[in-house]
Amino acid sequence: MITCGVCDNSLGGRHNLCTERDLIGMYRAGAFAEKIAIPGRNLIPVPDGMAGAHAALTEPGATGLHAALLAERSSHRPLSESRALVIGAGSVGLLTALILRDKGVTDIVVAETNPLRRELVEQHCDFELIDPVQEQADAQHFDCVFDAVGGAVTREQAVLACRSGGVIVHIGLMDNLGGLDVRSMTLREITFIGAYTYTPVDLRVTLQKLNSGALGSLGWVEQRPLSAGAEAFDELLKGRCAAPKIVLQTV
Ligand SMILES: [Zn+2]
Repeated sequence: MITCGVCDNSLGGRHNLCTERDLIGMYRAGAFAEKIAIPGRNLIPVPDGMAGAHAALTEPGATGLHAALLAERSSHRPLSESRALVIGAGSVGLLTALILRDKGVTDIVVAETNPLRRELVEQHCDFELIDPVQEQADAQHFDCVFDAVGGAVTREQAVLACRSGGVIVHIGLMDNLGGLDVRSMTLREITFIGAYTYTPVDLRVTLQKLNSGALGSLGWVEQRPLSAGAEAFDELLKGRCAAPKIVLQTV
């Protein structure tokens, strides 16, 4: 994320809220180019010996860490005493769940509609997984709900699953409107937080966590040659992709 560096939010450490923020791969030509130019202050050294495919998880991981920090700040009890539901086991959702586990959360349920992905995540990460199409998460049960999909359907599920006084962190950006039962949220004092990306410190902390093994073996990351990139995007679009993250390698 490239920010102006001089506004109140940038100077206050909340770079992600800079109104002039720019993001490589979103507003700027993306990282699939052979060469890209970015400000030097954006560079973070990768620790010696760290696999590139693992370092590449820093960005989605930092999004999860940032979401967990926001939940932590608004929760009445420590996260480690909380029951957490994570909706969506893409890279952001899965890394959010792994970060929660690293923070001592023992009761974590992950909701994912793609059966191939459920199987892979179960195999590598040992979370309790549910298919939200077949089975609703327990109603009014979770202290923290992380919506890493961000659609009307998942927002509705998040409100139903959140216990009174609980926190919903909305990370995904699938669609804009619908799903929130505001009356229920008001009567049950549910805190709803929008979470957008990360700060530079979130990125640095996440890189260290990934490198130290705090987020597990990361065996769920799939590596393919760059030449198979188009096929990988096609699988992702059609929901046929098991891996929460595919890293394309040039060699
Ligand atoms: Zn700014």
